[in-house]
Amino acid sequence: MILPFDTIVVGAGLAGSSAALALAQQGGGSCRVCLVDVMPASALAAAGRDGRTTAVAVATADWLTDLGVWPELAPHAEPIRAIRISDDTARQFVHFEASKAGCQDPRRDTPGHAALGFIIDNGLFRRAVLDAVARHPNITVQTGQPVTGFIPHSSLRPEWAEVLLASGVTLTAALVVAADGRSSPLRTLAGIPAAMKRYPHDALTFTIAHTLPHQGIAHERFLPEGPLAVLPLPGQQASVVWMVRQEQSAALQHVAPDVFAHALQQRFGPALGTLSLSGVRHRYPLWLGQARHLASGRLVLVGEAAHALHPIAGQGLNVSLRDVAVLARLVADNRRLGLDPAQGVSDAYTTLRRPDILTMVAATDGLDRLFQVTFPPVRWARRAGLVAVQRSDRARAAFMRHAMGVSALARLGLKS
Ligand SMILES: Cc1cc2nc3c(=O)[nH]c(=O)nc-3n(C[C@H](O)[C@H](O)[C@H](O)COP(=O)(O)OP(=O)(O)OC[C@H]3O[C@@H](n4cnc5c(N)ncnc54)[C@H](O)[C@@H]3O)c2cc1C
Repeated sequence: MILPFDTIVVGAGLAGSSAALALAQQGGGSCRVCLVDVMPASALAAAGRDGRTTAVAVATADWLTDLGVWPELAPHAEPIRAIRISDDTARQFVHFEASKAGCQDPRRDTPGHAALGFIIDNGLFRRAVLDAVARHPNITVQTGQPVTGFIPHSSLRPEWAEVLLASGVTLTAALVVAADGRSSPLRTLAGIPAAMKRYPHDALTFTIAHTLPHQGIAHERFLPEGPLAVLPLPGQQASVVWMVRQEQSAALQHVAPDVFAHALQQRFGPALGTLSLSGVRHRYPLWLGQARHLASGRLVLVGEAAHALHPIAGQGLNVSLRDVAVLARLVADNRRLGLDPAQGVSDAYTTLRRPDILTMVAATDGLDRLFQVTFPPVRWARRAGLVAVQRSDRARAAFMRHAMGVSALARLGLKS
């Protein structure tokens, strides 16, 4: 059976489902999109499936507002009022205050409040986007369907590419989007190589309850064994990403909850009062990954299929959604002119996305390396650097524009 569409998106993670929605909304919502995922629908929509939260930059929240999913997320999104970055002792730190940078909380219902970004539970995030996908009349979802083949030029019509599913169905479209994650089977089927580097750390992700209010502060602590991020959630709760060496991570994941909470408390200190573990600990291997090409002919790579980043700065999905925003704009421009939706997209997308992706790869990888060095002169220089940034209004303002994602979107012409 052959099913024709305008666009096929392979991978219904956060990047792919957002891409399906953004592309289907074009041309007055007339673009027919097929969203394919290997997982069954029930597994895809299960809230809390990955036990993580996402730090959504303000600029990303603005884009999600345009996409129509932010109103559903906003009531559950905890604003980041400040970011505090510290070395292992916590005595030297940099404190970035949203109110001092004049950052306005984009949620219209809280005027006068400032935010650098928001923390959102990934399960809620995924459900909000998938619900919007399910409501859209022009998106067809094919779940439980591994992709088994990719033909860049269909023999049926040269302006089509073909995606073959294990069920025997052939999907055709002018544009195919690979959003099928870090190991992207579609990228492999298209013959695009990717460079991968495994970091020596795993991330343990979990939720804690604490006895003192967090005041909207996101803490990033650089410990000798790896970075520790403690991110504000609604109430007296926080989402934690604790990066530890691979050889310690399995033991730490399964140690008794009170022993685990004690170890965390020792490292984090008293800033949030007494910490206790709530819920399950998840473990993620950390990778740096980059596809050699971001696009080729009618195929475009978005999200982790194109780039996997160290989560040290909470930027991976923000970068992925900038991929989607740029792709949607390029395709919309073609449609407006009555052109083939894929015409010139491969080159333009690569030109527009490469600098942002390379910057984020270098920044996150460099930050990880810098804070891993235990050589005393480097540690002293690092502490001196934190002090210098804390004293410089200009350096802190530049950091905040990056954290909010505003600089990146402005460079892409997606925000003034
Ligand atoms: C610990 C941790 C914390 C993070 N925190 C943040 C943060 O705070 N902020 C931020 O911006 N980013 C963060 N990130 C990054 C972010 O979570 C990822 O970038 C994002 O989840 C990846 O989304 P994706 O849609 O590209 O890929 P995935 O979520 O991997 O989705 C890929 C989809 O493709 C499907 N698929 C795979 N193979 C096939 C096939 N053959 N056929 C069909 N479908 C297929 C899969 O089933 C899956 O649904 C973090 C990452 C980690 C590891």
